[in-house]
Amino acid sequence: MTQPIVPFFSAVGATFGVDLAACLRQVVDGGQYVLGPRVREFEAAFARYLGVAHAVGVASGTDALTLALRALGVGPGARVVTAANAGCYASTAIVQVGAEPLYAEVDPLDMNLAPAALEQALGAGPVAAVVLTHLYGQMGDVQRISAACSAAGVPLIEDCAQAHGAQRGTRKAGAWGALACFSFYPTKNLGALGDGGLVATDDAALAGRVHALRQYGWAARYEVALAGGGNSRLDELQAAVLLAKLPRLDRANAERRAIARRYGAAFAGLPLRLPPPAGDDCVAHLYVVRTPRRDELRAHLARHGVACDVHYPAPDHRQPVRRCTVSLPVTEAACAEVLSLPCYPGLMAPQIDRVIDAVRAFFSAETAAC
Ligand SMILES: *Cc1c(COP(=O)(O)O)cnc(C)c1O
Repeated sequence: MTQPIVPFFSAVGATFGVDLAACLRQVVDGGQYVLGPRVREFEAAFARYLGVAHAVGVASGTDALTLALRALGVGPGARVVTAANAGCYASTAIVQVGAEPLYAEVDPLDMNLAPAALEQALGAGPVAAVVLTHLYGQMGDVQRISAACSAAGVPLIEDCAQAHGAQRGTRKAGAWGALACFSFYPTKNLGALGDGGLVATDDAALAGRVHALRQYGWAARYEVALAGGGNSRLDELQAAVLLAKLPRLDRANAERRAIARRYGAAFAGLPLRLPPPAGDDCVAHLYVVRTPRRDELRAHLARHGVACDVHYPAPDHRQPVRRCTVSLPVTEAACAEVLSLPCYPGLMAPQIDRVIDAVRAFFSAETAAC
């Protein structure tokens, strides 16, 4: 098949209707390309949006996680609790700082770190930090998890790379932990035209450390005061794009949620495990269904012009570089069954119908065959 009729991502939809070329032009003409006025303006705007005191732009979501861990002083010998179904990003950062990931089981309904499993891990030995990924845009049980972390005196890092704009009550994802990490990879809910990331925190000392770490560990220019620094800056071009898109993020998230709700209504009754209904604490970054016949369904949808993806096919502890012996049955079962359907701003009504019809056809054909 050449171009699918329903692709998995829309570059046009991802502009949120903003003239991004004009944003870029302004930066080109302004002549300041690294850590200039737009980065500062975006950091302030995003901190305000989240309701946190500080936001520090960095080069990627993975760097955000790495610098957040470094800012907390997590290093060699330390253990960091996280889930193993979230694409290996947290694991990558944990290993990058010399620490060791300690994988805990996920909740079978929302697929996020299970509070009981975390509580058990916190009771079983010293833990330096916890990374909670709000997977697929659905916030985890952040109340119970942050309470468990506080009780154990362990800092919580929220990985919000799929959850820009999600909120529980009036408090946004990213305003619950000691630090929160965001990615602005182009396909994220708030995406740039390249790589970008950000660390948010209410703690001025932590923000100061991330600030120093993103630029060689400098306290002032050419004064290397903090070990472990490097070069991880958000550039002006990306900041200009993000600044222009931010005011339209909530509308784009509402569009994603509406698609998720249409799928939820259309698929009720099918032998498919559906994600929880999308409330305010879900920004439908991915619409992920589960079936033991995942690969067949995916092939069927491809034949009908619908592109899908799998997030994620292998759990972190089974990656070739890990070789952990730990057993995580819920996580492993999920990895074998998850399938992400198209869900993004700019997805047209006839395309949504096509996805729905194709999914239904798969199961009605199956019923007929039985
Ligand atoms: C995309 C993503 C990251 C990594 O972000 P990059 O900008 O690609 O480095 C981290 N965590 C999660 C959950 C992600 O989805």
